[in-house]
Amino acid sequence: MRIILLGPPGAGKGTQALLLARDGNICHISTGDIMRKAVASGSALGQKVKAILDAGELVPDEIVIAVIRDRLSQRDCDAGFLLDGFPRTVDQAKALTALLGEMKKPITHVIELKVPDHVLIERVKKRGEAGSGRSDDTEEVLARRLEVYWKQTAPVTSYYREIGKVIEVDGLGTVEEVHAAIMKVAQGTASVKK
Ligand code: AMP
Repeated sequence: MRIILLGPPGAGKGTQALLLARDGNICHISTGDIMRKAVASGSALGQKVKAILDAGELVPDEIVIAVIRDRLSQRDCDAGFLLDGFPRTVDQAKALTALLGEMKKPITHVIELKVPDHVLIERVKKRGEAGSGRSDDTEEVLARRLEVYWKQTAPVTSYYREIGKVIEVDGLGTVEEVHAAIMKVAQGTASVKK
C-alpha cells in the first residue's frame, strides 16, 4: 500500500494516519511532524521553517520535496507508506508523481477525508483549547491554514481526480468508524490508474 491521505486541517488526518499505518504495517510520513520536530530541535531546517509554520503558511515546495525524497528512500518505506500532509500543492503532487515513477512505486490509493468546514473550525479550536502543543492551533492561524488549504491544497484533489481515482471517506463518525471505513478502502482493490 502506498497511500496519500487528503483532507483539510481538522479532518482527522493525523489520528487516522497513525491507525492506518499501524494496522496496514506501513511507514507513516507526516511532513507536519517532520517540520515540527525540526523546529523543536533547532536544526537548520527548523530555523528556516519556524516562522512559516507559526503563520500557517506553506513551507516552500523545494524544501518539502527534498524532505520527502530523503524519507521515501529509507528502508522502512520499502513495504509501503502513508503520506499525511503531503502533497499540499499541485507542484508537490507533480514532483511526487515523477519521484515515484523513478522509484517504480506508484501510489495505490488516494483517500480524501470529508468533513464540513464548520466542524473543522470547531474541532481545531477545541484542539487549541485542550493544549495540543501546536503553536498554529489558534483561531487566527487556523483561519489562515484553512484559506491556504482551499487555495493551494484543494486543487491537489482535482489533480488526483484527473489522473485516477480519489476515494472519499466520510470523516464525521467516531475515530473507530472512520478508521474502519478507511481500512476497507485501503484493503480494497481500488488503485490509481495512470
Ligand atoms: P500539518 O501538521 O500537516 O498541519 O502541517 C503543519 C505545518 O507544516 C503546515 O501549516 C505547513 O506550514 C507545514 N507543512 C506541512 N506539510 C507541508 C507541505 N506538504 N508543504 C508545505 N508546508 C507543509
